Amino acid sequence: MSTTHYLRERLAELRGPATSPRPLDARALAALAANPGCRRRALLDAAGIDKGAVAQVLGAPAPFGQSQFAFARGHAFEARVKAEECAELLRLLGAPEDSGALLPDLSAAGPEGRTARTRLALAEATSAGRWTLLDHPLLALDVAGSAAYLEPDAVVVAPDGSWTVVEVKSFPILDGSADPVKVGAAARQAAVYVLALERLAGLLEETTGPVRVSHDVLLVCPKDFSNLPTAQFVDVRKQLSVTRRQLTRLTRIEEIAAELPDGTTFDLRWSEDGRTPTRPAPELAAAVEAVPAAYSPECLAACELSFHCRDRSRACGSVESLGRGLRGELGTLTTVEAVLSAALGTDAAGAETADPAVAALRRAAVLRAEALTAGGASCH
Ligand code: SF4
Repeated sequence: MSTTHYLRERLAELRGPATSPRPLDARALAALAANPGCRRRALLDAAGIDKGAVAQVLGAPAPFGQSQFAFARGHAFEARVKAEECAELLRLLGAPEDSGALLPDLSAAGPEGRTARTRLALAEATSAGRWTLLDHPLLALDVAGSAAYLEPDAVVVAPDGSWTVVEVKSFPILDGSADPVKVGAAARQAAVYVLALERLAGLLEETTGPVRVSHDVLLVCPKDFSNLPTAQFVDVRKQLSVTRRQLTRLTRIEEIAAELPDGTTFDLRWSEDGRTPTRPAPELAAAVEAVPAAYSPECLAACELSFHCRDRSRACGSVESLGRGLRGELGTLTTVEAVLSAALGTDAAGAETADPAVAALRRAAVLRAEALTAGGASCH
């Protein structure tokens, strides 16, 4: 049995035999790249486990993800942008009206079939040397030994053979500028697509010759308060290099899976109508806790399990729950208890220490005590 086949079987076992995998999208991959030390997220995402449903069963659902309203609005806007054979989108890309752009059919069975179809369409379009728009192509990217399938809103091949990612978002561009937080999130997501396209370009090089994958992604948004589309090119070079570096730091999925205790499963055991998970919470919590996590407050904006991981991190007094910056400054002190003992000089180091973190904590404790005494004195 090949490693890939074995891993696929193992991940299906962890997910539960009757559960379909949730595809790992670019948004999830960008979040994973932002926290490469979290084995829990890496494993659950690779196995296609619904982390939102897991959080529900654990009694810690996080208000995370798009609302139904935002989702519907996004779909309606994208349909508008792509109406009349993507004429408006091609115009925003700078294609002339009579470009005769091609819109190849990318439908095929299953993710492998769709990625193969996308690959063929990209190779043909690059050799043809004319405007071609691939609507919702499917790209594969190896992530820590497991295949992730990614679906950009569109990829455009220009007559010079270059490839450009298009992302359609429903947040507005007001007076020429958009919310930088939202643009940043879109850029991180688009960088994942660019990375997958660069890998594909490398594989196709023998057929197509060298291909330039543009690092400027076209971001299409509603203009001001209207529903009219407008677009901006966003340079994603920085996000691309961060994503590339972080993804290589992920522990291989088979290694994480191999360390699980025998019999571990994340199967939610859905009821017959597929609506209610019946897995007892303590059992599921034990399975989740069997995989090491790397919680930080940034998880709150990026992961469905954030409330659960935050509770566990606080319960064991871990300094990670205070933020990565502070965690870095505390050096070898990993718990709140150890930090307090160090500050008060009741730890093993006693009064003498060469540890700069401990020295800084003691200094801060002295200053605090002085401030409290002065405050107390002034009250009399
Ligand atoms: S919330 Fe938990 S599982 Fe999700 S990334 Fe953070 S530590 Fe990992």
